[in-house]
Amino acid sequence: MDNRAGLELVTQTEGNTVVKPDITGRTRLVGIFGHPITHTLSPAMHNAAFAALGLDFVYLPFDVRPEALADAVAGIAALSLVGVNVTVPHKETVLSCLDTVTEAAGLIGAVNTIVNRDGRLTGYNTDAAGFLKALEDAAFDPAGKEAVILGAGGAAKAVGAALGMSSIRRITFINRTLGRAKELAAKVGGATGVSSTAVPWEEMEKSAVSVIRSADIVVQTTSIGMHPRASECPPVPADAFRQGQLVVDLVYNPAPTLFLKTAVAAGARTQDGVRMLLHQGAAAFELWTGRPAPLSMMESALRTAPVAGRVSDIP
Ligand code: NAP
Repeated sequence: MDNRAGLELVTQTEGNTVVKPDITGRTRLVGIFGHPITHTLSPAMHNAAFAALGLDFVYLPFDVRPEALADAVAGIAALSLVGVNVTVPHKETVLSCLDTVTEAAGLIGAVNTIVNRDGRLTGYNTDAAGFLKALEDAAFDPAGKEAVILGAGGAAKAVGAALGMSSIRRITFINRTLGRAKELAAKVGGATGVSSTAVPWEEMEKSAVSVIRSADIVVQTTSIGMHPRASECPPVPADAFRQGQLVVDLVYNPAPTLFLKTAVAAGARTQDGVRMLLHQGAAAFELWTGRPAPLSMMESALRTAPVAGRVSDIP
């Protein structure tokens, strides 16, 4: 590995780290494939990390339309990129373009990180590992516990698989489209043996209140409450939260969300989506560089990136 500093830290103003790329013929390239991609925070996080460790790497955003995905993935090997992150809308469709995927990524059915080893492309899902690391930060051990997951999209798949593989006792998925929740509950239950059920979204304020209240952990994985619709909140009644419960919202802009503020007011412990975002990025960083990720520098870059007002669909 070439340790020559490729990013020069030029200034730090009002908490915003500004990096100046110093690109040479030796610079290693990583990046992110998504569509749209203008709102991603990952370049800020990873370029700050490369600068902190003096690594001659640059992280770039690539706007890849769905019909161009296969060509773009072939380009990872053709252009000798170290690897890429993959985000909305490609996380599931990219699996068929890769040489191999890890067991966890196969179970989840989604890849968010690709590593290029001598032209052979391996797909990983660091969302699941990132979620579990974030739970460690909150000193929460899923073993033997009960979970409620709001949502059944890509993020819910990663969270469901992560909890399912961590000896959780029971998972209840609550989703607007009940069929997706049923499908996910069956998949997680079948793959991990964990008791998994699906509940209609409309029951959130009715029969599901007692289920949510008895849960040890409630994970909000829908995009409700994400900027610019920060005034929106899943319809969980305040009395469904309680002391001793951990409530996590994967939305990271804003952080905290109205959902988390409601949970805090009811006495629950909470964690915002920045912790998972940080840890999924750190896991990708370590796969690409073989170096421990500089977590505090990466978190600082995430929490100070100037996103408010221009982020509508951060992946
Ligand atoms: P996705 O696959 O598109 O799934 C979206 C989910 O939100 C589905 O369950 C959808 O329900 C539900 N939903 C959306 N609008 C809704 C509404 N108005 N009412 C009720 N349900 C609604 O998206 P995703 O990839 O799972 O991402 C979801 C959120 O997680 C995003 O905010 C994303 O930024 C965040 N995320 C954070 C991290 C992190 O590291 N912190 C990682 C991944 C994702 P239906 O099934 O009915 O459509």
